[in-house]
Amino acid sequence: MNDVVIKEHDLDLERLVQPPISETFGKTVDIFSLKSVEQSVCGGTCSKEPVVVIHGGKYLQCGECTHLHVGNGLTEEELSEHYKESQKYAATYTNPEKAQLRVNQVATPKAEWMLKVYRDLHGNILQDPNVLDVGAGGGHFVKACRDMNLQVEGIELSRPSISFAKNVFNIELSNRDFLGVSADEVKNPRLITFWGVIEHVKDPVAMLKKANDLLKDEPGMVVASVPNFRSGSTIIQMMYPDTAVRHIGPIEHGNIFTEKSISRSFEKASITPTHAWYFGMDAYEIWTQLVTCGRVKSQDFSVDGFMSDFDRIRESLGIAGGVSQEVRGLVTKLTSLKDSGDFSEALDLLPKLQLAFDEERASDEITLAGIPSSEQM
Ligand SMILES: [Zn+2]
Repeated sequence: MNDVVIKEHDLDLERLVQPPISETFGKTVDIFSLKSVEQSVCGGTCSKEPVVVIHGGKYLQCGECTHLHVGNGLTEEELSEHYKESQKYAATYTNPEKAQLRVNQVATPKAEWMLKVYRDLHGNILQDPNVLDVGAGGGHFVKACRDMNLQVEGIELSRPSISFAKNVFNIELSNRDFLGVSADEVKNPRLITFWGVIEHVKDPVAMLKKANDLLKDEPGMVVASVPNFRSGSTIIQMMYPDTAVRHIGPIEHGNIFTEKSISRSFEKASITPTHAWYFGMDAYEIWTQLVTCGRVKSQDFSVDGFMSDFDRIRESLGIAGGVSQEVRGLVTKLTSLKDSGDFSEALDLLPKLQLAFDEERASDEITLAGIPSSEQM
């Protein structure tokens, strides 16, 4: 600790009027509170220098579990205020048909995967396991579960999102802070889901622990879907930090996970990971940067130049070279189409490219399912 020195002394009268002002030197630094800021998932030591700076967010990486968090991010109180009024679902998708399309395309596959995994783990012990969706947003996943005739409830902090769910889906989400929920306030959930939620909070492990507490000892399962640092979208965000807006964004995504850090988070919460699912928007992000942002049309764009930057970052992230062949295929195709200005022919290449990222476990999203450790089978 530095000593605080307060000295009163006479100052140059030509500069200042009497009486002399009181000056303070030095500032007490609490080393331990700084250290606790650095701990996120496993309590390991974080890098002192950011491994990536995106949109002003300086992401530090844990030397042990490889988790990333924003060293200069919002405080817990600021985050909570931010989410109470978050307009994400109020501003967009207000059309009920579009909203249902989003349910069918995005949320229903997730609900189907969840149910399949649950049956895989627990058989048909419970015909209708109750679902609790935490951070339900506009209620899309809750709607998907309801469409599948599952008993489901959703918790959400943002009031605009709650209104959206009510107006568009006629779903009542509960306006509660999940960490404060008691067992008798929820309907004995057997499945607790966090779709794109725990990366937003200061303490992701606390959320998972709370889920474990609520499951008690009956057959249960936790699902968490999080952004993946070791991914194609990370490569693109590092290549084009100013224009690529994907999973790395310091205001909302204070945490970026890796396979290791999400697994470690589950284990810290006494949940044993059993199933993982890899999918993402990596191929779409490449398309956005090259086609939508028009880079492929620029004079100084070349396939080799692009691939050399891509491969350098890919290697630094430990992603195997198999994806590069698919990326090169897409970029070469786009280059051949740039004079015509019509890139639609190249759209067919996107699903195969995304699959290459998924199979390399380098998709920008990882979904992990697990069961309370006491239930291990
Ligand atoms: Zn760690």
